[in-house]
Amino acid sequence: MPPTRIAVLGGGLTGLSSAFHLSRKFPNSKVVLVEKHSRLGGWVRSERVQLPQGTHVLEAGPRSLRPNSKSVLELIHLLKLKDQVITVPKTAAPAKARFLYIPPSDSIRASGLQRIPSSLFSLLRSPLWSVLLPAVLREPFRRNNRPADIQDESVDSFFSRRFGETFARTFGSALVHGIYATDSRKLSVKAAFPSIWKAEERGRGSIVRGFLLPSKPVEEEQYDLGRTLDMMRDVSVYSFRDGMETLTAAMEQSLLRSDNVEILKSTSISGLKSLEDKSIEITLAEKEPLRASHVVSTLPLPILHNLVSLPHLTANPPSTVRVVNFIFAAPPKDIHPEGFGYLIPRPPAGYPHSPSPGILGTVFDSCSLHAQDLPQTEGADYYNNAPYTKLTMMTGGPYPQPPLPEQLCSSESSRDMPDFVRSLLDELRRQLGKDLPEPVYWRIWNNEECIPTLLPGHLDRMEELKTVLASDWDSRLAVVGAGVGGVSVGDCIEAGRRVGREW
Ligand SMILES: Cc1cc2nc3c(=O)[nH]c(=O)nc-3n(C[C@H](O)[C@H](O)[C@H](O)COP(=O)(O)OP(=O)(O)OC[C@H]3O[C@@H](n4cnc5c(N)ncnc54)[C@H](O)[C@@H]3O)c2cc1C
Repeated sequence: MPPTRIAVLGGGLTGLSSAFHLSRKFPNSKVVLVEKHSRLGGWVRSERVQLPQGTHVLEAGPRSLRPNSKSVLELIHLLKLKDQVITVPKTAAPAKARFLYIPPSDSIRASGLQRIPSSLFSLLRSPLWSVLLPAVLREPFRRNNRPADIQDESVDSFFSRRFGETFARTFGSALVHGIYATDSRKLSVKAAFPSIWKAEERGRGSIVRGFLLPSKPVEEEQYDLGRTLDMMRDVSVYSFRDGMETLTAAMEQSLLRSDNVEILKSTSISGLKSLEDKSIEITLAEKEPLRASHVVSTLPLPILHNLVSLPHLTANPPSTVRVVNFIFAAPPKDIHPEGFGYLIPRPPAGYPHSPSPGILGTVFDSCSLHAQDLPQTEGADYYNNAPYTKLTMMTGGPYPQPPLPEQLCSSESSRDMPDFVRSLLDELRRQLGKDLPEPVYWRIWNNEECIPTLLPGHLDRMEELKTVLASDWDSRLAVVGAGVGGVSVGDCIEAGRRVGREW
């Protein structure tokens, strides 16, 4: 029977996408979106700050997207956001130049900021060649070494098996720091990088061979894309003029205009139970309970675990990420090399046990996202001429972090700078090898338990969860979100797009 009343729990990306798509799919059903906070968007948060000479968009969460997720492009089309999109072409420096920072204490021969080679020519000239070249050239000739009895393994174990331990630590751990802010020795390769896991199968044991062979065609989903594919031709990454919150704010506005949607903000969910007539009762703090024929939970799984008994909700530990934005009153050329930014691999001796700056990587926002800032630098010469440089340091994840002062989160004065921010700045100077000026603005976002580390076996556990939802809840309760189907913006939007297909 089609749903009469759908409750969507949680108003982050997945909850907003679920409510948006369900309200269109079931125009005769009522959709109620319930969110604990007074704002929607979850980890997507953009803030425009006003400084004496202009304004700058700062991001707390996701900042740029690759154009490969059609579900996001579809939203851009449906919500008429095309004019707000800013793109970085594949030929631009931020698309071509990505770096690794190798500390001098590391055991590999290259040290300092090293550009990741993007062509054979640049590989041969790169100090990273001694790690990259032998690993990639030998891989197709290594015997098939996936143990017959394993269904999944960590990213580190997978890359070590195929490319060797130095490659796995140098490139694999840095990549995982950049996407999942976690330890590559813990993250499931099958859940995090399914295409690489499948390439090894296709290549009969070799990832390189697998990528050279054609993959089986899969049945294509149909998306309402308008002309967004044209807009994304030859684009490396994109964002929005006012930041990523453009996407969540536009979904909210669209929901507010829908006759069949109600949004309950500042409303905490404290319980969930199935009633005899198969409807579901949602207990709300300080409000009357809500009844729904169908429920979509997009809550972080450990939070859902406090509301209802279901298997595997606490299997994946979450990472806490501190994001620190800096603005310097100097052009980017005086601060950093032209490019997207850099990632830092896991230290050879593992993560320290005591608190440290714990830098996972730094994004050179001025290079890819300078079109967000006002006034805009005329022409393409922002790198040499823009009056400001904006960059973001990502810290935490597997590194223990020092405590933060309770209230101080941003400042225009370097006198108020907490020791933590000062230590990041000192480290930034060392990593960039430059005597940087004092920043004119800094902002800390403490994202507590924001990204789940999907441990090996995650996909099987989620299948078991689905089976229990089908048998015990008659599939009237759907559980989706970053902790279930993948953490990327595209994964979250796609999950909201697909939910309720069996209703
Ligand atoms: C720092 C950072 C950088 C990132 N960068 C990128 C990137 O560059 N590219 C990319 O693709 N992805 C990125 N991501 C990942 C992506 O942003 C997240 O995975 C995604 O936003 C998660 O959305 P969600 O809706 O599943 O979860 P959430 O955003 O966690 O939403 C869950 C919602 O539930 C609400 N809630 C919780 N408890 C209750 C309760 N009891 N009652 C009611 N409501 C409740 C919360 O307030 C929240 O709004 C990044 C994430 C972070 C944190």
